[in-house]
Amino acid sequence: MKFGFDIDDTLINLREHAFHIYNRKLNRNVEVDLFHKLDKVEIHELFDMTAQQGSEMWNSSLEEIYFTSCPPYPDAVETLQRLESEGHEIYYITARPEAYGERTMQWMIDNQFPVDQDRFYYGMNDEDKVHIIKELELDYYFDDKPIIIETLRNLPIKVFTKSQSYNQHLEIPRITNWSELDDLLQNGD
Ligand SMILES: [Mg+2]
Repeated sequence: MKFGFDIDDTLINLREHAFHIYNRKLNRNVEVDLFHKLDKVEIHELFDMTAQQGSEMWNSSLEEIYFTSCPPYPDAVETLQRLESEGHEIYYITARPEAYGERTMQWMIDNQFPVDQDRFYYGMNDEDKVHIIKELELDYYFDDKPIIIETLRNLPIKVFTKSQSYNQHLEIPRITNWSELDDLLQNGD
């Protein structure tokens, strides 16, 4: 089977990692509880920033956000390793900008994710993602972002969402912990 994965906030805890970086850089002490209650993907409001300021802060912090010690979600690495060892094809499809693509792939390898270079797609905006997902004829796809999930609804592909505070309204199978994947796949067949 072909399994496709978004990376940020699906396999790794990137926004929370960024949240801690913001607290430190801005010398703030915003409670992590507030982060866990956010109903949107962007985190700048917690730091009293406008959308413009938030986007500048995000872009100027990208190097640190992407390439320091962002933790994978529990059991994500092990689950993907197992899928690969069972003979499944693992694809990564990330919106991370082109300029960071190769290093992101290396970061994933360094963090023990099973990576085949020919199955690693970056620089994919929301629309590109949908196209590539169709083209690859994936059997399964996993993402956290509501707008992506919505656009995949009518494709012949099993879509799952990584449960996040901002995607609770989506009525599709959700993964809270990656160790649940086996059960979810069995129930879906
Ligand atoms: Mg994501």
